Amino acid sequence: MSKISSCYIHIPFCDDICSYCDFCKIYKKSGHVKKYLQALKQEIKERYQGEVLKTLYIGGGTPSCLSLLELEQLFEILNILKKDRDIEYTIECNIESITLEKLKLFQKYGVNRISIGIQTVDEKSIERLNRHHTKQQVYETLKLVKESGFQNINVDLMYAFPWQTKKMFLSDLNFFLSLKVPHISTYSLILEEHTRFYNQQLTNIDEELEIWMYQTIMNVLKEHGYCHYEVSNFSCPGYESKHNLVYWNNETYYGFGLGASGYMNNCRYENTRSILKYQKGDYVLEEHVLTKREMMENECILGLRKMEGISKNKFFLQFHEKIEDIFPIQKLKEKGLLQEEHGFLKIPENKIYISNEILLEFID
Ligand code: SF4
Repeated sequence: MSKISSCYIHIPFCDDICSYCDFCKIYKKSGHVKKYLQALKQEIKERYQGEVLKTLYIGGGTPSCLSLLELEQLFEILNILKKDRDIEYTIECNIESITLEKLKLFQKYGVNRISIGIQTVDEKSIERLNRHHTKQQVYETLKLVKESGFQNINVDLMYAFPWQTKKMFLSDLNFFLSLKVPHISTYSLILEEHTRFYNQQLTNIDEELEIWMYQTIMNVLKEHGYCHYEVSNFSCPGYESKHNLVYWNNETYYGFGLGASGYMNNCRYENTRSILKYQKGDYVLEEHVLTKREMMENECILGLRKMEGISKNKFFLQFHEKIEDIFPIQKLKEKGLLQEEHGFLKIPENKIYISNEILLEFID
């Protein structure tokens, strides 16, 4: 297995909690930041083996809700990690918490990619999601980010709100296009347990409407020059997320911080979501050493998220098995649920919206 060259850092703090969120997050005002950063430093010191990183991703939560001083402390901690000259160094930000001073600080520490949570610019939807930006603020902040010298920018677009009409959806999509950023990640709203929306007993949007929205995203973004490289991700050429490709390529990575997960030495691990345990140094909640079968399944489940699919050759080199001998490739091909192109197996574009069902059949 290849050497680790990627690392995810979780910063769980948020100024406010979104109605749909089931991520590992904590109110910033709970006052845990200082102790959390100390614990994060300790975890990295104990577990990091000195590898040179090619991708580093600070996610959350909302990393950008930390104060300037806290961010500086975080970056100093992350200076423990060795970084390749060409590292992709990403920080997730909420549009409301981006300031010029923070952007300058990001640059001072070598951050070169910004991923911005916007989700929607429809006023009613912003309010129901319990987010607090305005359309004007998005425009102005994006301008600031670009003028500060950041080119590698992602924005998150959410759709399939239970109340969303085609008109509302198209208006959001057009607005996102007008931002002219090189990467757009799309998410359909999922009503997860333990979220405000779940407790409000909202019902999912009509399935046909959701599929129409997804297909419209695919068609419109492609017409505007974006490459659809993963089920939910679109980028201009050369702006694919290198860090997320590590996940989809089933490669190894560190995950440090509350609730973070990682993959190393054939073992997938997940850190505790209890801030008190984490601060006591009790970082890891679960470790699972994968069997060969599980590794092969992961290679396919993750790889089939990419539009290019899985390389048959890579599979053979890695596992010394032919993929056809392990999974029902022929059967899926005959049903039109899988296709082969230049030695890669992939889900046909017109079947991507049922990819979960196909994957289940794949590993059955
Ligand atoms: S900002 Fe992100 S992590 Fe925080 S509550 Fe909203 S969705 Fe969850």
